[in-house]
Amino acid sequence: MANEQIPKTAPAVVFEKINGPIVYKEDHPVTQPQDLKPGEVLVKIECTGVCHTDLHAWKGDWPMPPKQPLVGGHEGAGHIVAIADGTTTTFKVGDAVGIKWLADSCLNCENCRMGAEMTCSLAQCHGYTVDGSFQRYAVSYARHCTPIPDGLPLEVAAPVLCAGVTVWKAIKEANCKPGDWLVVSGAGGGLGHLAVQYATAIGLRVVGIDTGDDKKKLLDQYGADAFIDFKNFRDEGALIKEVKRVCGGEGPHAAVIASAGGAAYNDALEYIRPHGSLVAVGLPPDTDIKANVFWTVFRNVRIIGSYVGNRQDAIEALDFALRGKVKPQIVTEPLKNLEDVYKRMESGGIPGRIVLKC
Ligand SMILES: [Zn+2]
Ligand SMILES: [Zn+2]
Repeated sequence: MANEQIPKTAPAVVFEKINGPIVYKEDHPVTQPQDLKPGEVLVKIECTGVCHTDLHAWKGDWPMPPKQPLVGGHEGAGHIVAIADGTTTTFKVGDAVGIKWLADSCLNCENCRMGAEMTCSLAQCHGYTVDGSFQRYAVSYARHCTPIPDGLPLEVAAPVLCAGVTVWKAIKEANCKPGDWLVVSGAGGGLGHLAVQYATAIGLRVVGIDTGDDKKKLLDQYGADAFIDFKNFRDEGALIKEVKRVCGGEGPHAAVIASAGGAAYNDALEYIRPHGSLVAVGLPPDTDIKANVFWTVFRNVRIIGSYVGNRQDAIEALDFALRGKVKPQIVTEPLKNLEDVYKRMESGGIPGRIVLKC
């Protein structure tokens, strides 16, 4: 099923090898509707966010390497332009959908049955094990595409599909109740600035940790209770003391660590209050969380890993954006800028999220 002429080639950004050249191509081959396998859909991507994971994929930072050559990207928002014959789905050609990190999973294993499809051993990931959204036409899987509600602009939906879903899930894992203190570390970045908004939307008191006036200004708009510039608290123990002080003396009930720097994890273990949760989200390469067993037991600390979210988390995350409770800070640029965006990401200089027009 297809409702429009699908071109044979279209723009895409491709790298052949980890750390190899990042090449913008005008004439990347487009999978034709008759070549889709049952269950697959062809999505015309209007725009795509750029996530830190995309940079990790290109640099080969993770223990398991991505497919190569690779079209990265996993915050793609667009419309279905073709559905493979023999596919059972409620989607129709023309529907607005998002393609996110989790491209597909079996839906039958224990993980999938529990709604934890991200840990399915058969999971496929856009922009890692299968090509993703840094292209105009992407193949995805009907059962894992996320419906984008009417009235939500696609460039707003795009960063929610990974950054928003990930932090919304992490906040749910933190298990806080309205009025509790939550620290967001890396609060001015792509993940963090959304975490602050989801947290305030459900009535948490939020402290953002990051650095620089740009990021402070951004967080001030979101109703965060405090901003701590970590560069002003470099002395041994100073940051921990300050976090406890702003959270009423005892420290926060939970910390969501969205920063890509390792020190934030060990600081959080010291500043969260007894029974507090550390939710690990950011992925600094080669980093260990060093938790002292005695104090972890004695203080009833919970250390939780939280990796993206499931299909329902994605729908909930988009709904906050539709209702205007969460507004991604976005700057739109053309797809061909991707290499330059990676450079800016590496230097840590991007407040909010870059969205590329495909
Ligand atoms: Zn991501
Ligand atoms: Zn499964």
